[in-house]
Amino acid sequence: MKRGTFQLMKSVNKSTVLNKIRLSEPLSRAQIAQETGITPPTVSSIVKELIDENLVEESILGESRGGRKPTMLLIKRSGHYVIGIDAGSNAIKGVATDLVGTILSETEIKIVPHISKEYFLQTLKEVVRTIFMGIDDKNKILGIGVAMHGVVDVSSGISLYSSNSGLRDVPIKEELEKEFKVRVMVENNSRAMALGEYWFGDHDEVDSFVAINIGRGVGAGIVDKGRLYYGAQGIAGEMGHMVIDLNGRVCSCGNRGCFETFVTGEAIVKRAKEQIKDAPDNLTAEDIYTYAKENNKNYLKILEETGQLIGIGVVNLIHMLNPNKIVLGGGVLNSAEFLMPTIRQTIQERALTEKVRKNTIIEVSVLGKDATILGAAALLLAEIF
Ligand SMILES: [Zn+2]
Repeated sequence: MKRGTFQLMKSVNKSTVLNKIRLSEPLSRAQIAQETGITPPTVSSIVKELIDENLVEESILGESRGGRKPTMLLIKRSGHYVIGIDAGSNAIKGVATDLVGTILSETEIKIVPHISKEYFLQTLKEVVRTIFMGIDDKNKILGIGVAMHGVVDVSSGISLYSSNSGLRDVPIKEELEKEFKVRVMVENNSRAMALGEYWFGDHDEVDSFVAINIGRGVGAGIVDKGRLYYGAQGIAGEMGHMVIDLNGRVCSCGNRGCFETFVTGEAIVKRAKEQIKDAPDNLTAEDIYTYAKENNKNYLKILEETGQLIGIGVVNLIHMLNPNKIVLGGGVLNSAEFLMPTIRQTIQERALTEKVRKNTIIEVSVLGKDATILGAAALLLAEIF
């Protein structure tokens, strides 16, 4: 089938059947009918379409209750491929995945902050080219999903502004579509991370879900009933710029006391240097983790305090959105073992009601560093499923 025709054929029932198979495979036609309430003949005709489109395949695995074994349905892994890109400020990474998020190949090129727009695009294309060349049947490529740090205009696929790399108005979608002739979708890295976690991190049964990315910056992605939430002007989830201290440090955005100025890797190092007299000049966030691991009380205290600060941000988020589940990820969460106890404690001390304190699920990302890049790939998958 031709690329780009999925949207036309998509119907609510079809999407229901496809997602049922994705989440509960292997399944028989009869089970799908039973569990979705769609009539058996309709299920059969939808399944036929899905098989024709290379999205689903049959397998004889079913348990028989006497008589012949039912034919079971599975997502066809090798039916299509997606290219996912994680464009960070220190590296551009690329992967090819199948329809269930298995990483089939990967590549990476290191970059430094504050490169030119041209150099950035050139490097990005080189990463995509490497992944593209590794895929035998180019017709199976559904498209390229790009997770870009900073503010992204999703509809035009332009990276508007990134404070970490100093890039402005980079036409990522246009440039990649021109060269590779497949569909390109661009998303902010924190939203991509949220989508990646939602799709591949076993959180599917959850209605409202937030992933918070804490690394060089802080951003959140909100997934509401399976879809990313953007807000009216597309800045929903800019949690890093939520002000938590009116007189705090100046943030990269120009405001004072943003959440980001307390909890990014760099901010943690700054606080450590202020509080610990003999802290080395070249102290890094990784060093702080190492010293904490060695049971150094001063550094343990810094991470405990960081957990409390993150907890305050999380409580604000809970009071605003009241999600079922919050997943924390990004580089700073490499120190999760020292952060999570005070994050949880702060939520218990500050969240408004007992139900919220008891029922809000807080977890550390299970996908870790792959969440963002898998989320980039899921941008395309979310269009089909
Ligand atoms: Zn700010």
